[in-house]
Amino acid sequence: MKGYFRNIYQSLRTILIGMRITLKYCFAQTVTVQYPDMAPVLQPRYRGFHFFEIEKCIACDQCAKACPVDCIYIEKTGPRKIPKGSTEAVGGAMTRFAIDYSKCMFCALCVPPCPTDCIHMGNLHDLSGFDRQSMIVEFTELAEQGHQTPQPIWMQKEKLPEWADTRKKEWQEYVHSDDAFSGNVSGRREAMSRALVEQEIKKKK
Ligand code: SF4
Ligand code: SF4
Repeated sequence: MKGYFRNIYQSLRTILIGMRITLKYCFAQTVTVQYPDMAPVLQPRYRGFHFFEIEKCIACDQCAKACPVDCIYIEKTGPRKIPKGSTEAVGGAMTRFAIDYSKCMFCALCVPPCPTDCIHMGNLHDLSGFDRQSMIVEFTELAEQGHQTPQPIWMQKEKLPEWADTRKKEWQEYVHSDDAFSGNVSGRREAMSRALVEQEIKKKK
């Protein structure tokens, strides 16, 4: 009998706790962000669409092996390596580096195993498409156009809100990449193009 009344008490108590939280939000001030006119508030550790520094990638597959949902696809024409004293990988051409964002969980498990620190979580959050195929981002094709990260279609317009224009410029000038090419936009672009063709690995004399 005692247990019966205890159950009724516990049920009523948990309902009241839930209702108290619901009522608190009913009377809270509504905050509406006028996105995309206003920038979305993202925390510094936000994990958005990757940015990929193809010129440093040695196509070792470590990121793909670490991915719990197997959504990274890498193809190359031969072994790649970064010679001593350089920050640019040479060897076989990168023929494919793609991520299927219809599967990606944005867990960032692909980032720490990378031996050359060339795959990172970015700060872009809105990529949309009409079918699953368009959710596969081909980073090698982006590299051909000088991009490290996919950009939302609306961000490719000429007239943009100030915050979006700033973010777009940051990506076009590779401000997130910190290495020997820092500040050298055209130099990095050339290195990105070189990653797409075979480069001779010079043998030590
Ligand atoms: S963020 Fe996670 S799910 Fe997405 S590619 Fe990296 S390891 Fe795979
Ligand atoms: S772990 Fe890094 S270097 Fe290796 S394939 Fe992935 S991105 Fe390229």
